Order: sequence, then C-alpha cells, then structure tokens
Amino acid sequence: MKPELNLHGQTLTLKRFPTRTNETLQAWDAADEYLINHVHDQDITLDPARPILIMNDSFGALSCWFANQGPVTCVTDSYIAHQGCLANLAANQRPAVNIIDCLAELPENPQLVLLKLPKTNRLLTWQLQQLCQKLPADCTVIAAAKAKDIHTSTLKLFEKYLGQTKTSLAVKKARLIFCEVNPALAQPLPEPLRWEVPEHGLTLTNHANVFSGDSLDIGARLLLEHIPSYDRPQHIIDLGCGNGVIGIKAAQLNPKAKITCVDESYMAVASCRANAALNLPDPAQLTATVNNCLSGFAPDSADVVLCNPPFHQQTTITDHIAWQMFCDAKQVLTSQGRLIVIGNRHLGYDGKLKRLFGNVSVIAQNNKFVVYQTRK
Ligand code: SAM
Repeated sequence: MKPELNLHGQTLTLKRFPTRTNETLQAWDAADEYLINHVHDQDITLDPARPILIMNDSFGALSCWFANQGPVTCVTDSYIAHQGCLANLAANQRPAVNIIDCLAELPENPQLVLLKLPKTNRLLTWQLQQLCQKLPADCTVIAAAKAKDIHTSTLKLFEKYLGQTKTSLAVKKARLIFCEVNPALAQPLPEPLRWEVPEHGLTLTNHANVFSGDSLDIGARLLLEHIPSYDRPQHIIDLGCGNGVIGIKAAQLNPKAKITCVDESYMAVASCRANAALNLPDPAQLTATVNNCLSGFAPDSADVVLCNPPFHQQTTITDHIAWQMFCDAKQVLTSQGRLIVIGNRHLGYDGKLKRLFGNVSVIAQNNKFVVYQTRK
C-alpha cells in the first residue's frame, strides 16, 4: 500500500487512523482523486476569503489538499476521521482547518462544497437540508462516491433537498454529482427520530447517523436480556454505544453503578446523552463520550464492559475495530472484570476472545446471534 497521493505536481503522505503496522488500505479513494482532478481541470477559481466546505472526508485527504486554497471547514460525524485529518494535516505541514461535527452550525457564505457520500441516506438527507438552508445560490456543490453507491434514489435526494442535479461519467469506478443550489427548497431541519421499546420501557431519540437509528438492532435486543445487575457500586462501560440503549438499560438495572458510554460518532454520543436525560431518573449516572475505543482510559478501572461491536470502518468491512475493542476492554477491566459481547454467529468472536482472555462462554444465543462472556 503506497501512502503517497501524487497529483498535479504535489505529493501528500496520507495515513488512515489509527495507524496500523502493515496497513493494507489507503487513506483516500478514487472519488477523492476525481474531485481533486475536477476542481483542478475545470480551473475553478477559488476566493481566498470564502469558506470551502468538505463533508465526510475519510481521513483528511481532501482537507489536506485544499487547506492552502481557502479557509477549509471539514464536517464529519466521526471522531476517527477528525483525528485522521489532524494527523495528516500535521504530517504534511498544511495550514489548520476548522473541523466541526455534523450537528454544528455551518460557516456563512461558502463558495465550494465537496461532499463524499455518507454511508446512509439518513445522514445524506440531513446534510442536504443543512446545506440548502445555508448555501448561497452561487456556491458550487460537487459530491463524489463509488459509481456503484450512486443510485437513482440518491440523485432524487439531491433534487428534492438541494436543487437540480446531474452526474459525470465514471472514472476509475467513481462518479461525481453536480448540484445547483435552489434556496427555495430550504426547509426547517427535521427533529431526530424517536421511537419506543415498550418491553424495556425505553424511549429512544436518534440523530441521523446513529446505528440502527429507526428501530432496535436485533443483536441489541438479545443483549438487552442479558445485562447483569448488581447491588454494589460498579463501573460499567457500553463500548460502541450508538444511541446508548445498552448503557441506559445497564443504568436502570444497576442504580448504584457509574455508566460510561463511548462511541466514535458525535451524533451517537449526542443521542445517547439525550436518551439518558429521557430515560434515567438521574441522568448524571451516565457519561457519554466520543473516543476511539477505550484509548486513554485508565487500566483496571471498569468492572463490566458491554459491547455490540461494529464490523465496518466507514464503508470498509473489517473486524479490526472489534479486535481493538476487545484488547482495550482487557486493559481497562479490573481483574475478574467481565466483557460481554454480542456478535453475529458467523463473525466467530469466540475465537478472538479465547485467544485474548484464555476463556469464553456462551450466555445466550438464537439462530443469528451469540452473547459471549469472558473474564479477565
Ligand atoms: N450499542 C449500540 C446498539 O447495540 O444498538 C450500537 C452498536 S453498533 C453495532 C457499533 C457502534 O460502534 C456504532 O455506534 C459505531 O459508531 C461505534 N464505533 C465504531 N467504531 C468505533 C470506535 N473505533 N470506537 C468507538 N465506537 C466505535
């Protein structure tokens, strides 16, 4: 894997975050290259005073490229993308860019928006509505993605929420989307989705990019049945908390426990905080924080880690985050502390847990999912 992006006589050295020895994946893709080439080849004149908005940049390749062409604001829901962007800007001695999350106010009067299609249409819809409220009609908007991820339905969202839309030819299996801003389409931003889990007496509110944001995940449903309950004070971590459903249930079952919920999505953490306020008599019992797994947590500081791990990083299917979560949990658990993991049967987490902890047992299963427990 080569970490150098060479285009138009410039070279950037770009790494994914967190950096891994023997990394096999690049920190940018063909859609990033297409965007850079298009802006260069079309000789789009950039005003050094007007903001350039870069949305959903994976690890900062676009932010690094455009950082010295105008004031860049990088908008991302991912703490990992945020950290990757900072590291790549520093490694390439680029000027600082303004990095904000997807719930933050966009800067005034941008001249150019470069948008990498997010993984979900819910986040795309949110971002298009946010843009339509804010963009002047002369702002150039170019989106990019793998051609296979641009469907007629995707283009309809652009037409419905932002303005007239057309697409480019595919280059290296990537395509661009051009959209003319029509400020008349602007409408108030929607409220986060809210739904009930009556069997657990929970009301859950979900910002646009939250995992399983319009219904309870079927894995989470099984894990909810197997959260331990103790009389004594405990520190319980919900690792990869999403809307916080697992951590909130743990708080209800363990009123004396301190609960920490961790996710790398800012929208997940915002939803989790809102859900603690909605569902817990004492919301201060639960703290929600953005982080990369349990990086920086004190060793031997948690009695239980509950985890429904992800098997994607952005659009790449991978189990390295699950592995990192298990390794971090081992560090952070007290001796005899427990890690409880839910996984799709075919993911074979038991092998990993056995290798790491030397023990693993099955505490529940159905035809699709298994709940494993391991002790430090
Ligand atoms: N706990 C929730 C549930 O059961 O519905 C969500 C589980 S979802 C399968 C996995 C969660 O892990 C997602 O919310 C995702 O944003 C989060 N995640 C992914 N990578 C992460 C990382 N490196 N550090 C912390 N959380 C991460």
